[in-house]
Amino acid sequence: MTGRDRPASTPLAGRSYWQSHGGAPPGAGGAVPAGSGAGVPARSDFAVIGGGLAGLSSALALADAEPGARIVVLEANFVGFGASGRNAGLLSPLPAPLWLASAISEPEHLWGLKHLNGRVHEIAQWLKAEAPESGVTPKTLRLEAQGYFTAMGLSRVARLIDKAGIDVRPAKGPREQIAFGLETHAVDPYRTVAALAGLARRRGITIVEQQPVRAVEETTAGVKIVLDAGLSLEARAAIVCTNAYSGSVALPEAAKAKVVHNFMVATNPVTDTQIGWSGASDIFAIELNTSYVFYRMHEGRVVYGGIERFKPYGDSDFNVPPDVLVGLERLIARSFPGAAMRPEEAWGGIYHQTGTDLPIIRRSGAAGAVVLNVGYGGTGVAMTMLCGRLAAALVPGGRFVNSDDERLLAALAASRVPVGALARFVAGVATDVLTMRRPG
Ligand SMILES: Cc1cc2nc3c(=O)[nH]c(=O)nc-3n(C[C@H](O)[C@H](O)[C@H](O)COP(=O)(O)OP(=O)(O)OC[C@H]3O[C@@H](n4cnc5c(N)ncnc54)[C@H](O)[C@@H]3O)c2cc1C
Repeated sequence: MTGRDRPASTPLAGRSYWQSHGGAPPGAGGAVPAGSGAGVPARSDFAVIGGGLAGLSSALALADAEPGARIVVLEANFVGFGASGRNAGLLSPLPAPLWLASAISEPEHLWGLKHLNGRVHEIAQWLKAEAPESGVTPKTLRLEAQGYFTAMGLSRVARLIDKAGIDVRPAKGPREQIAFGLETHAVDPYRTVAALAGLARRRGITIVEQQPVRAVEETTAGVKIVLDAGLSLEARAAIVCTNAYSGSVALPEAAKAKVVHNFMVATNPVTDTQIGWSGASDIFAIELNTSYVFYRMHEGRVVYGGIERFKPYGDSDFNVPPDVLVGLERLIARSFPGAAMRPEEAWGGIYHQTGTDLPIIRRSGAAGAVVLNVGYGGTGVAMTMLCGRLAAALVPGGRFVNSDDERLLAALAASRVPVGALARFVAGVATDVLTMRRPG
């Protein structure tokens, strides 16, 4: 049954829209069966756990840093099974959003915002050249707010973005009270991970799918990767890139982040005129209202998401709870009043949310041969790709490619939940509201 034939409100089992039209195998999403060990060498220089964007970017960075090194990526399901194959594809121009709040008092965060924005544009260019299958296309990220309070908050955010030296312009649209546009790119998520896997294989990196890792242990020589049926792999170091699935691996040290379920739908095909949204294919929209929603067009369909939950529904993280599906239908009707739109495909995915919204990239364990590269939340598409180099620099004997990478890692590591800065931000918005400033 194609998406077009599928009745509304029927979630697609075991695959996201991107995975299904990108040719991925169906994923079970629940308990992963035991891996056979086929194709896993007994020894390698480096082991990367997890075949998402973070894992493949780390493996490619290791290959750049140490040409000729034996690198093995172990993936429990298939490459692009996790959030990397299920997201909305935005290369966020602000991959460290909470730094907007702390930038006023922390010069490193102000620098970081600008630096990350520049790196996101570099990644888009790199994908265009090295992985055109990723479908990377320019988009204007349109941040819009309809309510007065959210509009006042968004006005402040826009001033902070401008202060960080990032081009942000007022935008016009049919519905919003206020909107700003930032230039960036979007990708086809599953095809991007698959393209990175293709690049990795061409670089001589071994990728073994259907091979869950049960534990990563430190040894005197480096690490032991424990597989099923008494099998194991010895390596000099491991980079752990299992993100929201990190609870499935016994590690020397657990990463502190919570698992967030996010849900998306792809609608029936619609035209710009039908949805009253001209130039729709050039825009990635984020509405900041009572609920936070995001959407973009892809091949004539609106791909729409935004509801979060903290518990799984059933045995698969692809599952969409019925009330979430109804909620998304309502939100779509609010975003596109009068348009004859209905979800034809629906799927869930999980990401790993830290208190700072920033990833955890650090050595762990007594000898530091296990590097954590996890904690990627809702802006992880670009962030995973630009942090692979940071994780690769942390393996024993690794080094930073340039001083900016070192500076970025230091800023990420030193970041704390910006409680004071957030309180000042909220107080600022309240003052704006009380003095009846106009949003803009
Ligand atoms: C619905 C949704 C929409 C999103 N939209 C956006 C967006 O538009 N822009 C954006 O920047 N971010 C977005 N994100 C977030 C982004 O997708 C993630 O931050 C990013 O993909 C994380 O990549 P990752 O490689 O760290 O994790 P994952 O892609 O989850 O990869 C982890 C991999 O590890 C494997 N694994 C798990 N356990 C084991 C084990 N024991 N052994 C071996 N392998 C294992 C998994 O199978 C998986 O393939 C969205 C996320 C979701 C869920």
